[in-house]
Amino acid sequence: MKPVGDDEVTVGSLKDAVARFIRERGWERFHNPKNLAESICIESSELLENFQWVTTDESETYSEDSERLSSVSSELADVIIYCLAFANVLNIDVAYSVTSKLRECEGRYPKSDFYGRPPNLSKIRKA
Ligand SMILES: [Mg+2]
Repeated sequence: MKPVGDDEVTVGSLKDAVARFIRERGWERFHNPKNLAESICIESSELLENFQWVTTDESETYSEDSERLSSVSSELADVIIYCLAFANVLNIDVAYSVTSKLRECEGRYPKSDFYGRPPNLSKIRKA
């Protein structure tokens, strides 16, 4: 698959491209839910490694640092590819799953209560 932008593909076409890549290499037998969940975590750690020992302020400059942005982008791609492979083996509709979760979160974190507040506040103290 030639590189394309976010507005040029669907989630389904990315899932198909990942499935084709795996099928063409005969890797389906390695791609069970356990191995893929582990791979998602391993690649997430590689993404996180890009931020080891830097300050929050330094991390916010990555978008202007082509070398660091390239490394972060590559690790993010690894995470997403494994997430799409995981969705493929469990027949998870990614768009439905994400939009359903966002809808659930809209109910859990109403704008009126959480605007400007971190989402880890599970309970809001009201006077
Ligand atoms: Mg990686």
